[in-house]
Amino acid sequence: MRIAGQVNVDDLPRICSLLSRKANPRYGDQETRVVEVRGIRFGNSRPVVIAGPCAVESHGQTLAVARAVKRAGADMLRGGAYKPRTSPHDFQGSGLEGLCILSIAREETGLPVVTEVMDPRLVAEVAEVADMLQVGSRNMQNYPLLAEVGRARKPILLKRGMAASLCEWLGAAEYIAKQGNLDIVLCERGIKAFPSGEYSRYVLDLNVIPAVQSETFLPVIVDPSHATGVAAMVEPASRAALEFGSDGLIIEVADFSMGEPTCDAAQAIDEETLKRIVSFARAHTERIEQEQHAA
Ligand code: PEP
Ligand code: MN
Repeated sequence: MRIAGQVNVDDLPRICSLLSRKANPRYGDQETRVVEVRGIRFGNSRPVVIAGPCAVESHGQTLAVARAVKRAGADMLRGGAYKPRTSPHDFQGSGLEGLCILSIAREETGLPVVTEVMDPRLVAEVAEVADMLQVGSRNMQNYPLLAEVGRARKPILLKRGMAASLCEWLGAAEYIAKQGNLDIVLCERGIKAFPSGEYSRYVLDLNVIPAVQSETFLPVIVDPSHATGVAAMVEPASRAALEFGSDGLIIEVADFSMGEPTCDAAQAIDEETLKRIVSFARAHTERIEQEQHAA
C-alpha cells in the first residue's frame, strides 16, 4: 500500500541533503560538526552543560540563578524571556525586559546565553542579545520561524517536537540549514508516548541519540528537565544521557531561597545537584579520553 507523506530514514539523504551524513560523506561515519557559541564548543568529547531558570522572572531571581550556575561550573546560561505556555492567562515571560536581564547576567558571569524565540517577527530583537537562539518543541515545525532563525546568523538550539519523528526533526533542521546556517545543535526533550503524564512529564527518548548521530553530523544534547518534569529524575537522566553519547545537557535550576519559580517548579534542581551533574560530566569526558588513548 502506498501512503502519502510517509518518510523514513532511507529518505534522509534526499529530504536532508545538507545535513544527512550519507549525503555529506566528508563527515565520515562518526565525525560531528562542532558548533561554537562564544568559545563553547558543542560536539567534541567534552559535553556542554547549559543551566538556568525556566523563565526570566526578575532581575534578582535571574542573577541569583546565573551566579549559582557559574559556581557549579556549567558552561552556558539558559532562561526564557518569551515563554510558550499552555494557558494564555499564565505568565508569558518578561519579554524585552527579560532579554535585558539576560544580557546583564552574561555581563556579570561571562556565561553565553541561550534563549527561546517563538515569533518570526522577534528574531532580530532576540538575536541582538542571545548568543544562541532556541526553537522550542512546540515550534519545531513552524517553518517560517525556522527560515527566519536560519537567516539570523546565530547558532540555533532546535528542540525536538514532542511528537516528532527523527525524520520530521531533521527535516526541520534542514529548513534552518537551507538559509546557509549549519550551526545547529539538536535537543531531545522527551516525547509524548503512552505513559507520559502518569509518572513523568514526557518519555525521554535516549535511543534517538545514537540514531541522530548515525543520520547526521550535527551535535545533539538532552533536556532532562522537560523530559521528566520531576526534579529527582533530572540527575539520573543526565547521567544516562551522557552514557548514551549526548553532546551536552540543558537543565532548569532554581534558587529556592527566593521562593518557588513561577514556571516548572517541580522539575527545577538546586545548585548542589547541578554541581554533581557537572562533576559527572567532567569525569565522563576524562573517562572517554582515557578510553580513546588506550584504544
Ligand atoms: C524550554 O526549554 O524553556 C521549553 C519550553 O522547552 P520545550 O520547548 O522543550 O518544552
Ligand atoms: Mn521550563
